[in-house]
Amino acid sequence: MFDALSDRLSTVFDRLSGRGVLSDKDIDEALREVRVALLEADVALPVVREFIAKAKERATGEAVIRAVKPADQVVKITYDGLVEMLGGDKEPEALNLSLNPPTIIMMAGLQGSGKTTTAGKLALRLQKERKKVLLASLDTRRPAAMEQLATLATQAGVESLPIVAGQAAPDIAKRAMTAAKLQGYDVLILDTAGRTTLDEAMMSEAAEIARIANPHETLLVADSLTGQDAVRTAKAFHERLPLTGLVLTRADGDGRGGAALSMRAVTGLPIKFLGVSEKIDGLDAFDAHRVAGRILGQGDVVALVEKAAQDIDAAKAEAMAKKLAKGQFDLEMMSEQLGQMKRMGGMEGLMGLLPGVQKVKKQISEAGISDKMLDRQQAIISSMTKAERKKPDILQASRKRRIAAGAGVEVAEVNRLLKQHRQMADAFKMMSRDGGKGFAQMARMMGA
Ligand code: GDP
Repeated sequence: MFDALSDRLSTVFDRLSGRGVLSDKDIDEALREVRVALLEADVALPVVREFIAKAKERATGEAVIRAVKPADQVVKITYDGLVEMLGGDKEPEALNLSLNPPTIIMMAGLQGSGKTTTAGKLALRLQKERKKVLLASLDTRRPAAMEQLATLATQAGVESLPIVAGQAAPDIAKRAMTAAKLQGYDVLILDTAGRTTLDEAMMSEAAEIARIANPHETLLVADSLTGQDAVRTAKAFHERLPLTGLVLTRADGDGRGGAALSMRAVTGLPIKFLGVSEKIDGLDAFDAHRVAGRILGQGDVVALVEKAAQDIDAAKAEAMAKKLAKGQFDLEMMSEQLGQMKRMGGMEGLMGLLPGVQKVKKQISEAGISDKMLDRQQAIISSMTKAERKKPDILQASRKRRIAAGAGVEVAEVNRLLKQHRQMADAFKMMSRDGGKGFAQMARMMGA
């Protein structure tokens, strides 16, 4: 589905990689071409705008790694942007299965989107995880759809709710829920009726069923080949139903892919699965990194830039270790570490990992460093001038007032921070006198 976009982007990158040094203008131009490529792939304009703004920030911010070729840097920035656009900073979203079965999954979507097929695919997937699954069709207007679901159930090796002619959808939903409960099913999948276009009757029926069934997952199935219409459909459904996720079908088709790329950002809903064939096993769990990797086709470059970033961290850690070993610890170093600590489970967690630092640990906790304060402390340090950070001794009352105002805290808090810094510096000095053991290790963990 992303072939055209993939081709366009590789042309942009190829042109860049022919050159050695890239000026800011070159990078700007490359990002402009990435922008055009995304728009041509039918990605929604606001999504593209945000992508480019963030990419520019990354290209000029301190995240830029000098050690790698600028062209590779642009690939990595694009990769990171795609992953973020697809909601991939988090773990891939799994189905939310209730601890108190049966889990109820409701499928919604337009007729022809692949809803019934996807219900069957999900049933197979869950059946393979040894879940006892019941499929129920609520599509009372199309008996063929009910038959289709029953056939899919057989293929997936699961049960389907017996069809009772003439029963209304809400009643079928209730019957299915009772059956699932009484017969010990783990999962009940409700396949609702769709229409070919968005209409009020379909929406209110779906909303009523959602009210009755109170599903753990309400998945919207959308056909990625329908482009921006799929995005509009998702938005319209989301206004009426508490959707929990999206399934994009026909990802195996040759659509432009932009809808799939915009979907997450526009609706705020996670894409949970991609339909990748007509067959019953044609359903992939959605993985933003994999999709971004497939679009760019530059996995080795991305890995290379990530490695370079790690090397830089290691070099920084080394430099910090040297300073610490000499008993140096200024506010600049403290600020860097506060940031790192936040990512590592706080001071306690960090210190607990180190051998022989019980004394330091005690001093630090006595000094009152808690994770809650880390943000404010960083704000205080960043309100200081460079000279002040290097030499906190020069901080007299008027400077402290200025810093407190800049960070939005009381002067007392600035004083507290300075006291903590002094205690930490003393602790580090003391450790350095012990022969500096464990410093390299500690600095590496703190990541500088
Ligand atoms: P519904 O009306 O939304 O229930 O749609 P169906 O489940 O009946 O699917 C409509 C058609 O799309 C069927 O021919 C399916 O085989 C096909 N289909 C569904 N999902 C996919 C997919 O991911 N890839 C492809 N290629 N075809 C699909």
